[in-house]
Amino acid sequence: MSEERSLAQIFRRLIATTGPISLTHYMAEANARYYARADPFGTEGDFITAPEISQMFGELIGLWLSDIWMRAGREEPVHYVELGPGRGTLASDALKAMKRFGLEPQVHFVETSTTLKGLQFGAVPRAIFHDDLSTVPMDGPMLLVANEFLDALPLRQLIRTAEGWREVMVTLDGDRFVGVPGARPMDAAVPESRRDAPDGTLIEASPAVAAVVYEAAGRLEKQGGAALFIDYGHADERTGSTFQAVRRHKKVDPFASPGEADLTAHVDFAMLAQVALSHGCRWLGTVTQGDWLRALGIEGRAAALSEIAPQHREALHSAMHRLIDPDQMGELFKVMGLASPDWPEGAGF
Ligand code: SAH
Repeated sequence: MSEERSLAQIFRRLIATTGPISLTHYMAEANARYYARADPFGTEGDFITAPEISQMFGELIGLWLSDIWMRAGREEPVHYVELGPGRGTLASDALKAMKRFGLEPQVHFVETSTTLKGLQFGAVPRAIFHDDLSTVPMDGPMLLVANEFLDALPLRQLIRTAEGWREVMVTLDGDRFVGVPGARPMDAAVPESRRDAPDGTLIEASPAVAAVVYEAAGRLEKQGGAALFIDYGHADERTGSTFQAVRRHKKVDPFASPGEADLTAHVDFAMLAQVALSHGCRWLGTVTQGDWLRALGIEGRAAALSEIAPQHREALHSAMHRLIDPDQMGELFKVMGLASPDWPEGAGF
């Protein structure tokens, strides 16, 4: 049996023979390898996401989707679509909550990792798998959810040098990977308002993230429905790198071992609202995860669950605080709601 080559070895050879590769290419290949390899979630894995912290997260998402679907007129058929469903936990919790309101949608998962598809099928056996949104049916409204999906998509960084704007490329310094400005002028890719920034300014843009939201917005406009994008990120214009790697619950150097740590970047929600609006869809708002979950009644839900299972009271409360406290996930994580132009307002925005 031949030994699998590490991605670092493949990149080293590629860079040695053809020169620097873009950060976008580096991140895309590294994450494809990372997610294909194993189950990265949970205390035993590399990181924990909100649905893995508490069932309340998925339940409240299911509640939100049921509420807007009912107020929009209970249209059928209806499609639940989740991008990058991880272990399938969020979908499983959300679908249970939706069933209580008579909402039993067809389920579509957009996922590329074969390992994770297996886990997702175990959690939601009726799910239909897709490589991207293009094959999801359009014969009824779409209820779309993406939690910590956009942050994993390949990032592009642009840096201002004395010669103008350049794309950040990855090259070798001895045996180590390092980011350096590329040779090609990239001024045209920088918004006019930001072109005159001082030397050394770094800005991030993710064409892949914008493309996903653009496509989702176009579908909402055509087939009806609503969408929730939840991720860490900011709702104002920023400069500086947010490119990071997490392994075993700790931040590590994203250039240290490609394919073995989760690579992410913050999501630019200000840009995404513009993208959605430019495609004829309605932007319901972007709020912090803490405010949104509180508005949907997470405190009441935690109290009700504690009544049913008093032995879990402490665990429920600590999970809730993890999701909503400003120094935990409550403030850094944002929730952006989108809807078809003829759908109603969304709760909690
Ligand atoms: N939503 C889950 C998992 C987040 S991790 C949770 O909250 O727990 C990111 C997920 O997106 C994983 O399921 C990963 O395999 C998937 N993913 C990453 N890049 C993708 C791509 N380009 N296309 C489809 N799925 C992708």
